[in-house]
Amino acid sequence: MPRCPVCDAAVDLAAAEHPPFCGERCRLVDLGRWLDEAYSLPEKPRDDDEGDGEGPPARRPDDDEG
Ligand SMILES: [Zn+2]
Repeated sequence: MPRCPVCDAAVDLAAAEHPPFCGERCRLVDLGRWLDEAYSLPEKPRDDDEGDGEGPPARRPDDDEG
């Protein structure tokens, strides 16, 4: 008999409402894990101090006259 991937309980696929999970609770738990992995990308530092709209415009390095 297959086992629930979340709680490792034996699952009767013929009677289970949310196979391969033993129940809706475990299905949501697995879905939550999947979404958590999808949103959290590795090696990507977050910048909270971003979006500084004030200040003089930066000069272009290729704007060389003379
Ligand atoms: Zn389960």
